[in-house]
Amino acid sequence: MQTKETRGLVLYNRPFREDDKLVKIFTESSGKHMFFVRHAGNSKLSSVIQPLTVADFILKINDTGLSYIEDYKEVSLFKEINADIYKLAYASYLVALTDAALPDASFDASLFAFLVKTLELMDEGLDYEILTNIFEIQILERFGVQLNFHECCICHRVGLAFDFSHRYSGLLCPEHYEKDEHRSHLDPNVPYLLDRFQSLRFEDLKTISVKSEMKRKLRTFIDALYEDYVGLHLKSKKFIDDLDKWGSVMKKD
Ligand SMILES: [Zn+2]
Repeated sequence: MQTKETRGLVLYNRPFREDDKLVKIFTESSGKHMFFVRHAGNSKLSSVIQPLTVADFILKINDTGLSYIEDYKEVSLFKEINADIYKLAYASYLVALTDAALPDASFDASLFAFLVKTLELMDEGLDYEILTNIFEIQILERFGVQLNFHECCICHRVGLAFDFSHRYSGLLCPEHYEKDEHRSHLDPNVPYLLDRFQSLRFEDLKTISVKSEMKRKLRTFIDALYEDYVGLHLKSKKFIDDLDKWGSVMKKD
């Protein structure tokens, strides 16, 4: 068992025995681990083991069994996310997606930075649906899925009105649409945006603005990609889908 000081993000906690808790923390320097907190209700740790808390933790990390939280400092919370049921639902989904993509105890500082930065931008008020789409597209690689949204997979030309083919796991240009009669029949702006999302730097994010009809098309296509290539069925994603259904009933636009 080694003692380490590292930044970490609490992914979730769950009750364990009578008054104890198990807390899953994604740490910057050692990946994800499960921490045991005794008498969590009365513990000085009770406030920092809530989901979506970021802190500098002092941890006793055990590579095979349970780990322990010794102490913490520099706590930061995503106040805006926690105050908004929609943002909170999307943030919870990103956290669950990260948990699913990354095996325990596997070091991944760049995924840590990407997740924290995405949550910060969500907290700052950037479009949470688009941030979620960008995260979903970029994290596909962690599930072992590499898709090219930049060029036709047959002739490698770029900058055309592309469609996606599940059969070829890639784009088809208008000249090669015929290669797959079951192609996705996408609005060409969908693969265009996914190509941008794949290579996007955070500085460019503020310049992206997407209308609600296009957001719906992105949502539908990304769902199809996840169904076909990842096959995850997260409760937090189901919750978002239900929330969106209720949201559109109530909007009446
Ligand atoms: Zn082509």
